[in-house]
Amino acid sequence: MKTLNGHFTKNGNHTDHKHNGCHHHHNDLDLELIEHIGDNHHITSIDTPLRQDAFDLDDETKIALIEEHFAEIMNIMGLDLTDDSLKGTPRRVAKMYIKEIFSGLNPANKPAITLFDNKYDYHEMLIEKDITVHSNCEHHFVPIIGKAHVAYIPRKKVIGLSKINRLVQFFSKRPQVQERLTVQIAQELRKALQTPDVAVIIEADHACVMMRGVQDCGSSTITAQYLGAFERPEVKNELLRLLGK
Ligand SMILES: [Zn+2]
Repeated sequence: MKTLNGHFTKNGNHTDHKHNGCHHHHNDLDLELIEHIGDNHHITSIDTPLRQDAFDLDDETKIALIEEHFAEIMNIMGLDLTDDSLKGTPRRVAKMYIKEIFSGLNPANKPAITLFDNKYDYHEMLIEKDITVHSNCEHHFVPIIGKAHVAYIPRKKVIGLSKINRLVQFFSKRPQVQERLTVQIAQELRKALQTPDVAVIIEADHACVMMRGVQDCGSSTITAQYLGAFERPEVKNELLRLLGK
């Protein structure tokens, strides 16, 4: 597993991802630690944690089941599901989860990547910036909204630019952790483009930070992964300069 090159907030504070100053002891560890992991958005693995049987049920079955369960959540909260405005919500949410905002869990929805020969023999960095990121935090199931900047140095192959957007969208449409999203995009591009030289930077706002907990609306999170040539300071700096950072 590749470690992340950076994770810091816009105001320059480093986000501490270790358990420094943490008062947990081993006896009360488990539940508290699990909550702590979520609230601090720790990452536990680069692969999205999916079960082996994740796609045994088809989409229609999943939608029907989620509809049922979401109606139950609304019921428990005391909402009147006979009200015309609420009646359709469980089904709407279920369809939105499976067909839209979490459709990137299913490998069947992964965009096909078309590569082209690098006919112009272009071997400088190519940057696609300000790609819209609409994802959801896997710890709170509320939105992560931001921008991705993707760069690579082509070898023999180049990729249609819209395919980079589609890949970013695909990995965004999962319950996510921003660091994992960053790494998943970088690794997929490195594989698809057959070049080791890939960089991905994501700047995003987390609704869970804005709406709950510290309720800090002013801070955003920046994550970056620099692979291959981008690990060299001069190449990384050139990228950041071109991005205006
Ligand atoms: Zn969250």
